[in-house]
Amino acid sequence: SMEVNRNRLAADIDLTENAVAVLKKRYLKKNERGEAIEEPIDMFLRVAGNIAEGEFRFNEGEEAKALYEESRERFLQIMLSRKFMPNSPTLMNAGRELQQLSACFVLPVEDSIDGIYDTLKHQAIIHKSGGGTGFGFSRLRPKNDLVQSTMGVSSGPVSFMAIYDASTDKIKQGGTRRGANMGILRVDHPDVEEFIECKRENDQINNFNISVAITDEFMEAVEADRDFELKNPRDGEVIKTVRAKDLFRKIVEGAWLNGEPGVVFIDKINGDNPTPQFPIESTNPCSEAHLPPYDSCNLGSINLEKFYREETGDVDWDDLRETIHTAIRFLDNVIEQNNYPLPEIDKMSRGNRRIGLGVMGFADLLIKLGITYDSNEGLAFAEKVMKFVDDEAWEESRNLAEERGVMPNFEGSRHEMRGDRVRNATVTTIAPTGTISMIAGCSGGIEPLFAVAFMRRQADMEMPDVNPEFVKIAKERGFYSEDLMKKVAEHGSVRDVEEVPADLRSVWVTSHDISSEWHVKMQAAFQKYTSMGISKTINLPNDASVEDVEAAYMQAFATNCKGIAVYRDGSRDAQVLSTGKTS
Ligand code: ADP
Repeated sequence: SMEVNRNRLAADIDLTENAVAVLKKRYLKKNERGEAIEEPIDMFLRVAGNIAEGEFRFNEGEEAKALYEESRERFLQIMLSRKFMPNSPTLMNAGRELQQLSACFVLPVEDSIDGIYDTLKHQAIIHKSGGGTGFGFSRLRPKNDLVQSTMGVSSGPVSFMAIYDASTDKIKQGGTRRGANMGILRVDHPDVEEFIECKRENDQINNFNISVAITDEFMEAVEADRDFELKNPRDGEVIKTVRAKDLFRKIVEGAWLNGEPGVVFIDKINGDNPTPQFPIESTNPCSEAHLPPYDSCNLGSINLEKFYREETGDVDWDDLRETIHTAIRFLDNVIEQNNYPLPEIDKMSRGNRRIGLGVMGFADLLIKLGITYDSNEGLAFAEKVMKFVDDEAWEESRNLAEERGVMPNFEGSRHEMRGDRVRNATVTTIAPTGTISMIAGCSGGIEPLFAVAFMRRQADMEMPDVNPEFVKIAKERGFYSEDLMKKVAEHGSVRDVEEVPADLRSVWVTSHDISSEWHVKMQAAFQKYTSMGISKTINLPNDASVEDVEAAYMQAFATNCKGIAVYRDGSRDAQVLSTGKTS
């Protein structure tokens, strides 16, 4: 019976204590007293069943029923085995009243009071439902520009961004999490200097990540050391001329100081935009999803570590292939099952059908394979695995197009120009996986390990918290001792801990062990085979110079990354972080 089956499945799920705690706190259904009334197994059954119901939209009768049952079983299996997790809103909301399943949205900001305040309201509606929002402010007239109707002057993009920020503070999402935003301004906007500095004080616009949209023309001017014009978006009038190098320096200094602003290479993004009929001017909060106004993206991630097989010492490529196909069908169903917060978003999302399958547990897999993250072998493996994911994802999108039809906005898309009959504008995106990697119990996204071990305060004692896989290996290889684990936790890294065998020291690398150059190389390797963008932090040591940051930005541009965000160790210590990372 159902109940027996549920209990059998429940007994098989193997979630860490942390995962169960996160689920209880934010994902499981609660009663009025705030007590969880479902267990993790019920959540996975709820999600699998609800997303499988998408099959009824394309089929009828017995056939529909059979497809539904098959999909439900497959969807359930890839989640229970922790091979795949959809983004948080899908886990939280599928099969519940809200039914808002997307993590990312971009809203337009028109140069009018009506437009600005309509979007403010829409932002609140989206935050309430658990989504993050991105905005391009570049169409707003600059500060002190004339307002015809009142003969007054405009207060400019940064002042309106501050209003969106203040509103975010007031809207708590589903009673638990604050909204996250991305604010983007073009590098040729007259207010760009004010924008670059708007987060310098660390105590304002804290619900926003900010990025400058850098154009190819600007990068050419930087490289040739030319002047660069800042123009009023309203009429193209040149408001100011600056030395491109000086402006670039200001961006880089801000990034050095506290990681803000990041940059997005907007011409590269639009050059690859599969729906050029809808130009892109912003991204979602963690910048991996490049979306036109009113579009959304449904994300999901494959836990690569789960495909390692000890018997062969290799990846089970057949299992990975099958999981990718199931995950793409899952995400296409999510588009159907989604209850979009606005009619405009409903239309755009169903028309473009952007989905973003990404990966997590990449660092865990490399360790199992004995491959060093910051090595040519590491890069080659990254390209191999991501090419595989991307190829198979497109294959499934073609299958779905045959079964269910091409995406409604196929006409005018780059896919049409290439004669590639697909059902989705995009299929791959690499998200940070801040919470879902914790639920799956693996390393986040494509990031290296954060630490091999760290000191954790428990019951008033400082205890080392060591990566369980590392403990296992240390015991097997006979070098385990509590003192050594404490030493590793104090260092965070094992690269310089002599008691750890050399082969392990080269494979168990952490973010801080890796140079910014290798971080960017890894981002570029994954970008080659990803339809949208990549969330990746380029870590630098505390004593890195402004020139080091500049070099990383230049390298990212030269190697076709779609953007870059750096973090210099310790540079934000005094700041309360409230956006982006959810963990
Ligand atoms: P998760 O692991 O919870 O599924 P990710 O860390 O992968 O989420 O983030 C994916 C996207 O979800 C982000 O880029 C952003 O658009 C959105 N997001 C993340 N955290 C928040 C938040 N606190 N509020 C709103 N949206 C968020």
